[in-house]
Amino acid sequence: MKTNFSLENRKRPLIISGPCSAETEQQTLDTCIQLAATGLVDVLRAGIWKPRTRPGTFEGIGLVGLSWMARAKEQTGLPFGVEVANAKHVESALEFGADLVWLGARTTGNPFSVQEVADALRGSNVTVLVKNPMNPDLELWAGAVARLANVGIPMAHIGLIHRGFSYFGHSEYRNAPMWHLAIEMRNRFPEMKMICDPSHICGNRTHLLEVSQKAADLRFDGLIVESHICPDKAWSDASQQLTPPDFEKMIRSINWRADSTDNPEFVKALSDLRDQIDQIDSEVFDLLSRRMKVAEKIGEVKKENNVAILQGGRWSSIVEKVTSQAPKLGLSEEFLKTVLEAIHIESINRQNEVMNKYE
Ligand code: PEP
Ligand code: MN
Repeated sequence: MKTNFSLENRKRPLIISGPCSAETEQQTLDTCIQLAATGLVDVLRAGIWKPRTRPGTFEGIGLVGLSWMARAKEQTGLPFGVEVANAKHVESALEFGADLVWLGARTTGNPFSVQEVADALRGSNVTVLVKNPMNPDLELWAGAVARLANVGIPMAHIGLIHRGFSYFGHSEYRNAPMWHLAIEMRNRFPEMKMICDPSHICGNRTHLLEVSQKAADLRFDGLIVESHICPDKAWSDASQQLTPPDFEKMIRSINWRADSTDNPEFVKALSDLRDQIDQIDSEVFDLLSRRMKVAEKIGEVKKENNVAILQGGRWSSIVEKVTSQAPKLGLSEEFLKTVLEAIHIESINRQNEVMNKYE
């Protein structure tokens, strides 16, 4: 079936919303109709087949859910999208008139599945969004885009979804945003639309607005946000979904600032500040270069005396000394540790080069 929906020439932001999962006909239709009534939604979404981390949880309602989404489309006039993970899903989604499909994070991480989906999509004109894989691996993400492009899907029909990355440990997020990776992906595919999925980044409702605003400020093209008529009763992702009225409130609170302005005062102020940044950067890197030269000299001294690179206690005392200055410097301990770690790695490499020359 042909679709009229396209990513091309779309106004920013593109807003996709709907339940994590289609559960019942009433829940699907009520949610979609209320979302459409806000006037803020461009595309409806629902999960039909759910790839769950653990078996025994709700794995999706299946085919019948597609007929509910087709009905939601008919009643609201809005296009709809679903997640697809294999050829059968693609065939069914297209048969029921899906305007958009997306590859979920678990699918993007599996090249066999991506290839199967790509082959099934050959010749169709639906829009395909590619979520980042679970693990922070840009090659897998870019590889999925390449597989779609290789079967002839026009780049203009392909978009990206940043949904954060799985990691070991605890933080306030369910999936760490690692914004720098999304930005790097943007640099690789500058023409491609990238939207943010704050629901799966957050895993709860608390930080949804904050993450969405950040995405807007990083010039993402839109958002995909989960919404449910009664989130507490949702069969999947209950803690991160918003009621349609709360969705409306949140979306209206986001400030999609202009990309730029010609206001001469702004242009001058920005240019002066950027000059300052360039000057400071040049000083910072000049200092780092001097620091590395000293590290090399230390390597020479250690070599002459045949002592090991790593000297017990020295590094932790540097970290302690620098991080204790965090409040005075107005820099977070986390940031200082990250910078120190990068400096340490380079210092060790330099000393290693000096001490262990292999002809
Ligand atoms: C979803 O969008 O419902 C979903 C399962 O997301 P992800 O693939 O990002 O986990
Ligand atoms: Mn979900």
